[in-house]
Amino acid sequence: MQLHWLELTEASELLRKKEITPTDLLSALLKRIEETDRKVRAYVTVTEEYAYRRIEEIEQSDSSGILWGLPIAVKDNICTKGIKTTCSSKILEGFIPPYESTATERMLREGYVLVGKTNLDEFAMGSSTENSGFFVTSNPWNLDRVPGGSSGGSAAAVASGMALAAIGSDTGGSIRQPAAFCGVVGLKPTYGRVSRFGLVAFASSLDQIGPITRSVRDAALLMNVISGHDPHDSTSAAVEVPDFTETIKRSIKGLKIGVPREYFVEGLNPEVEGAVREAIKVLQGLGAEAVDISLPHTSYAVATYYILATSEASSNLARYDGVKYGFRAKGSSLIDMYMETRAQGFGQEVKRRIMLGTYALSAGYYEAYYRKAQQVRTLIKMDFERAFEDVDIIVTPTTPTPAFSIGEKISDPLQMYLNDIFTISVNLAGVPAISVPCGFSSEGLPIGLQIIGRHFDEETVLRAAYNYEQQTEWHKRRPPL
Ligand code: GLN
Repeated sequence: MQLHWLELTEASELLRKKEITPTDLLSALLKRIEETDRKVRAYVTVTEEYAYRRIEEIEQSDSSGILWGLPIAVKDNICTKGIKTTCSSKILEGFIPPYESTATERMLREGYVLVGKTNLDEFAMGSSTENSGFFVTSNPWNLDRVPGGSSGGSAAAVASGMALAAIGSDTGGSIRQPAAFCGVVGLKPTYGRVSRFGLVAFASSLDQIGPITRSVRDAALLMNVISGHDPHDSTSAAVEVPDFTETIKRSIKGLKIGVPREYFVEGLNPEVEGAVREAIKVLQGLGAEAVDISLPHTSYAVATYYILATSEASSNLARYDGVKYGFRAKGSSLIDMYMETRAQGFGQEVKRRIMLGTYALSAGYYEAYYRKAQQVRTLIKMDFERAFEDVDIIVTPTTPTPAFSIGEKISDPLQMYLNDIFTISVNLAGVPAISVPCGFSSEGLPIGLQIIGRHFDEETVLRAAYNYEQQTEWHKRRPPL
């Protein structure tokens, strides 16, 4: 048995029956990482020593935790106490958080073992992981392709058997798009479902932490752990958390599925369209009913997002001045030190975003850009509210194309931003959405199906995804590494 390919649920079962130990699992993963990560480069830090110590600790404690003994990776913009957290930025190089994020704190309480921190586009700004300040991660299905981003390291690690699961963050698609590109499952929860405490802020009104896994059941399991109200995050919601691992099993007979016409337009790769249309048939075969719907403001989503996300980023990133965190450059005066630190510490894309956001917020332009974008955001949110009066879920492709080549879009930011076209509205509206594998291109690259739900209705999203997954084998394919 190849332990590194186990699902969380399967590994947990074997641990409980004492057929394997947490050390067996961890050693198998570390071996896999040693063989594979030279090619894929998913990890910024592998926490080998820490993980062995952690196992000693959990072996003394209660073994009934939901994640007891399970090696899981964490995106490197989620704070882990005592373990460096870089956001793949030079400006945070060497930063060791003095506190733990709420999401990982909850995972610790359930006995998980951190196996490492994964690569991302610097401060989660990007769709390919090429904006990492350290190195580019490769897609496990084809090393010349991007794994997507910004949670590219997390998705690549899960897809290549270097972690049983991972958590990532999603501001405009950063969990779902890499999940689609790497052939794994990725869920962006409803805004407010999972605490953002300890997630390094990019665009605070959009950011959410969520699971990246090899099965829907595993995503449900992780959601059970990380969801729920947290007094440390005033935007986290006091909404009851169902047992998602149970609710996924219910049938989807009679479920109404909206198929938005604005998502099946020119520019959509025909193989992606074909796979998604097939997936809709599978759902219909399970008793769901498909209806054509319209989300009329879809075409404004990319522009709206790139004004709001950059505006929030320009404010959030003001704190990196060489005084409080990580890297500090030399300067002849205090102001000079601030400027040098930011000039040397931030990469090109991050600087571009700070400038765009500062511009959109500046006097004289605020009304034309930031305020207008907020108004359009409301219209986009209302599109979804109206649609969900008639349907229970909405299905779309996760991305317009399969994974593109490394280098293909990096010199053309607009092309890169346009890749987010199907994921971004979901963040603007705050609704939950999952990406599940639904096929492969003729070049052997994975294709993702996106299922979107009502606010706080992850239950239906996961249930539809699970029912679909039970009918298909796509999620069982492994990359030929
Ligand atoms: N690709 C989008 C961006 O560059 C989304 C990133 C994300 O979700 N963190 O902003």
